[in-house]
Amino acid sequence: MWQRVRERLRRPMNITWFSLVVSLFTVVAFHAPLMRAVVEGDASWLIVASFVVLLVVVNFLVTTLFLYLGRMVGRVVMAILMIGNAMSLYFINTYEVLLTRQMMGNVFNTRYSEASAYMGLDATLYFLLLGVLPALYIVLRKVDYGTLRRFVLSVVASIVAVVGVGAANMNSVLWIDRHATTIGSLVLPWSYVVNSIRQYNHVQMLNREPILLPDATITDEERDVVVLVIGESARSANFSLYGYDRDTNPLLAADGVTALRARASATYTTEGVKAILSHKRVEEYYEALPDYLARAGVDVVWRTSNWGEPTLHNVARYERVQDVKAQHSEADDRYDEILACGLSDIVRGATSAKQLVVLHTSTSHGPEYDKRYPKAFRRFVPACNSVEVSKADRGELINAYDNTILYTDYLVHTVIEALRACDDVRATVIYVSDHGESLGEDNLYMHGMPLDMAPSEQVDIPFVVWTSDGAPLREDITTVGHFHVFHSVLHRLSIDSPVYDASRNIFAVEE
Ligand SMILES: [Zn+2]
Repeated sequence: MWQRVRERLRRPMNITWFSLVVSLFTVVAFHAPLMRAVVEGDASWLIVASFVVLLVVVNFLVTTLFLYLGRMVGRVVMAILMIGNAMSLYFINTYEVLLTRQMMGNVFNTRYSEASAYMGLDATLYFLLLGVLPALYIVLRKVDYGTLRRFVLSVVASIVAVVGVGAANMNSVLWIDRHATTIGSLVLPWSYVVNSIRQYNHVQMLNREPILLPDATITDEERDVVVLVIGESARSANFSLYGYDRDTNPLLAADGVTALRARASATYTTEGVKAILSHKRVEEYYEALPDYLARAGVDVVWRTSNWGEPTLHNVARYERVQDVKAQHSEADDRYDEILACGLSDIVRGATSAKQLVVLHTSTSHGPEYDKRYPKAFRRFVPACNSVEVSKADRGELINAYDNTILYTDYLVHTVIEALRACDDVRATVIYVSDHGESLGEDNLYMHGMPLDMAPSEQVDIPFVVWTSDGAPLREDITTVGHFHVFHSVLHRLSIDSPVYDASRNIFAVEE
């Protein structure tokens, strides 16, 4: 049998047939979700037919170009894209994700150790059958590249076909415009290739020197500390503080915190964290809150078990989990409570009257919710510990997720306790999540839907406030968002700034 396969592979296939085979395979194997979206989008039969023809022709054209111009290099690239297609299809089918720029940001923010969390049996089958196998075929099949004349003919014929289909669809412009995001995110491999490049450019922007804000000044000598706890994938629907029928916030409820209705301005970490640290919604990257305050003379401490943060330039004390572990060898570095280790000492040892401590947590990050909290917090059982969340029992999945919220309750309570131990300091704790999380509602899992399409589960976030002096909040605010953090922190630290926006300060101001 193996002998026959080898013989077949050795017999040269001409480039036109080969490109057509690769193109048809790509269209049939990887574009069911796209065709479903087109049909569900109430497209006319002309549009449906045009999509099929376009997909076949464009894939044919690209394969021909890569092969003829790139020879073996072109084939290896096509093979790698095949594996990329297979994995993308797995994610699209399993999590109903769209491969937008934002989603590619999510993918690149996933550490290698976490990526393995997604590799269950299904993923392995996709990888081998739809990825590796066709990839091997593309690399090993003997191809007759033909003459330059034949190559030019193929290219010209393809372009004529594309233009023809385009002309026939002049009247479909409105339909295409309305569905552009969905369609653009389901055409493989162009969705992830193009959106990866766009995301790369976006991240480059976040890593550049930020645009500086006008100088801020500290206006008094009172001792103030704000601890900003940034949550990960926490949705308000599962907090008893927000009316959830399970008691997931026993400690915070007893602490007398205030829970404000809040909506996230992003559905993925990089953008959510950027918004929490920004003075307003802008495309450009302005100086983030920690940098801005550090430059004004505030003592800023940043501790993180997460990633996707903008590059900070002025923060002297930036600590990852292993840095905290190095100072506190007794601490358990598997869970987020290590971030609060020695917090009272940090506050007492502040190098300025004004201090901001940011704890960037990762507790509710999926899909392995059950690994994010110590055993003592496995209160809702049985808790799902499978990585294939879409196949998991939904009740067990929610149990595991609720345990992460119960643990978050403990974590934020621990922060409040540490501040209670610092008598002569006026303290503020703000806990806010970067975005919400889907747990199987409408077959959606995790997060990262484009904001204008995202379900409420991915957008409604907790925004919890505690102050040592019981400072009253404004009564005229109903719903807050990420951008309220910046201005509320400025207010609590008595900092004067030209960019201060009183309408985004959650605290009542005495006249
Ligand atoms: Zn996140």
